[in-house]
Amino acid sequence: MTEIKVAKFGGTSLANSNQFRKVGAVVEADKDRRYVIVSAPGKGHSDENKVTDLLYLCHAHINYSVPFDQVFDIISNRYLEIVNGLKIDLDIRVYLDEIKESISKGVSVDYLVSRGEYLNALIMAKFLNYDFIDAKEVICFDKSGSLDMVRTEEVLSKRLSKHNRAVIPGFYGSTLDGKIKTFSRGGSDITGAIVARVVQAEVYENWTDVSGFLMTDPRIVENPRPIEKITYRELRELSYMGASVLHEEAILPVRNVDIPINIRNTNEPDNPGTMINSVDDRKNDNIITGIAGKRDFTVIAVHKNHMNSEVGFIRKILLILEIHNITIEHVPSGIDTVSIVISNSQLDSKLDLIVEEIEKQCNPDSLNVYRNMALIATVGNNMAHTPGIAAKLFTALGNEGINIRMIDQGSSEINIITGVEDKDFEKAIKAIYNAFVGE
Ligand code: ASP
Repeated sequence: MTEIKVAKFGGTSLANSNQFRKVGAVVEADKDRRYVIVSAPGKGHSDENKVTDLLYLCHAHINYSVPFDQVFDIISNRYLEIVNGLKIDLDIRVYLDEIKESISKGVSVDYLVSRGEYLNALIMAKFLNYDFIDAKEVICFDKSGSLDMVRTEEVLSKRLSKHNRAVIPGFYGSTLDGKIKTFSRGGSDITGAIVARVVQAEVYENWTDVSGFLMTDPRIVENPRPIEKITYRELRELSYMGASVLHEEAILPVRNVDIPINIRNTNEPDNPGTMINSVDDRKNDNIITGIAGKRDFTVIAVHKNHMNSEVGFIRKILLILEIHNITIEHVPSGIDTVSIVISNSQLDSKLDLIVEEIEKQCNPDSLNVYRNMALIATVGNNMAHTPGIAAKLFTALGNEGINIRMIDQGSSEINIITGVEDKDFEKAIKAIYNAFVGE
């Protein structure tokens, strides 16, 4: 049986003809890379705009009845540079003119922004000499605008069985009545995952501009070690804390059929990147896999003697927050204490009112509010069966004089979340990294 690899290339991998050539070399290097998913051209350098952003801008011009020709010209020039630079025989102007003409007749925003991927896929198919499959024919959305996975699997597998090698634009599909519908931003990752699932790929390669994940933020720790392998569960814990390279919804289609995702770098194709797996087959004895964190939380810490024997105590607090339409990040609790962790942005000016209501309705012995707290997640599958991890972590923070305001070890035991003050955020991450990985 031949193996199939599905390779999705992000915007920076497709920003110009030079990047297209690198993609060509990657696809060429492995004959198993039979299905290629593309994003729209991204930023080739810091002053350049993403084509998708320009298309949104174009639509805004139309909405306000402002001439859009100038923006459209910038977009057209990006594609002309790619086609001319690759010296392929494709008259992209015909397609650009068609789009421009359809705009003057009135088009939906989803249709217009999807053209970024559409044009890129046409060019890539020609360049690689692969078939082109329009995503509108194979990625199906239901009436409410959600992905219809059942119909997509049926239509897509039938279609792909007729194409040995194909390029498919990411980011969009269509509803039953033929209208173009896009995923949320960054959604080409989802298209890639769906294709990988349908062809039961050996691996879903996600090519971007970084060589996979690093153990922590390189802006905080100099040269952190790369993560060679990570499990889906660990990734979920880390990405919740903001360590994101992939669209969150791209994980589901492949995760539950055990297809690994390999994050690779188009600019460094020899680097193996990071492999995301369902099962943990790592041979190493690294205790932690990664450290990530977020700032700007508020902790409301409530203490009441014999809280444990008072029926509905925590419910009352949660109800107050629910009534104020506030989402909660964590609720670590002890016998007589409960802390509610809320993102600052959720609270705005509501904090005083909430505190007042909790005091009135719950009558606590004490209530303390800690503003500007940071949460740091230390994640690793091996943590669950290694004794002394928490002690090592707290010693590391203590040695640096960092006050720990909250600890939450999720029931999965693969993640310890510590709450420190915002001002200690970077120092704390460095201390944890150094304690577990070494300086
Ligand atoms: N081009 C789209 C965006 O910029 C989708 C993607 O790149 O995944 O959001």
